[in-house]
Amino acid sequence: MINIVIFGAPGSGKGTQSERIVEKYGFAHISTGDVLRGEIKKGTELGKLANDYISKGQLIPDSLMTDILASVYDGLRATSKGCIFDGFPRTIPQAESLNKLLAERNEEVSAMIELNVPEKELVTRLVERGKTSGRADDNEETIKQRLNVYHGQTAPLIDWFEQQGKRHAIDGLGSMDRIFDDICAVIDKL
Ligand code: AMP
Repeated sequence: MINIVIFGAPGSGKGTQSERIVEKYGFAHISTGDVLRGEIKKGTELGKLANDYISKGQLIPDSLMTDILASVYDGLRATSKGCIFDGFPRTIPQAESLNKLLAERNEEVSAMIELNVPEKELVTRLVERGKTSGRADDNEETIKQRLNVYHGQTAPLIDWFEQQGKRHAIDGLGSMDRIFDDICAVIDKL
């Protein structure tokens, strides 16, 4: 099975490009943010807990997030030839848990695809998205906090994946088609 981590700051285009990957390759797509927003919508206990973190732009604790991911992955695995991890891992402990979880299933991360977008453009995109997304965290103050969290907790994963020989960096600024072509060039070599 092909397991792809799509990586980048909030607003880097992970969700948009994941949709295109799903369409072309028929892979399953796990967006941990979407999973959590689904729980919030359903009003579950998990949703209530997640909402406290999401609305502040903070990360949900690693152990909880890893349990959620494992159960979603196991639900999709039987029927998929590939899987895109979108929004996970976001910390080094999550990446280590992902490796362990996959190894226990005789799987591994096939590639980490990193979308690079300048900070100013990220803010512009997220503020623009906030006009229609209805997301509680797409406002300027929370966007700032999410970018701080990204730089502090998530960006160290770039070196971590590089050391594992899995990192493929792509220029995430420009036409969606060109970015998608670059992504496909990575996937087609796996
Ligand atoms: P996203 O839709 O990926 O931008 O995620 C929105 C929010 O959900 C994040 O700001 C976090 O509060 C939470 N979240 C999503 N994925 C994770 C994760 N892997 N670890 C911790 N928190 C997460």
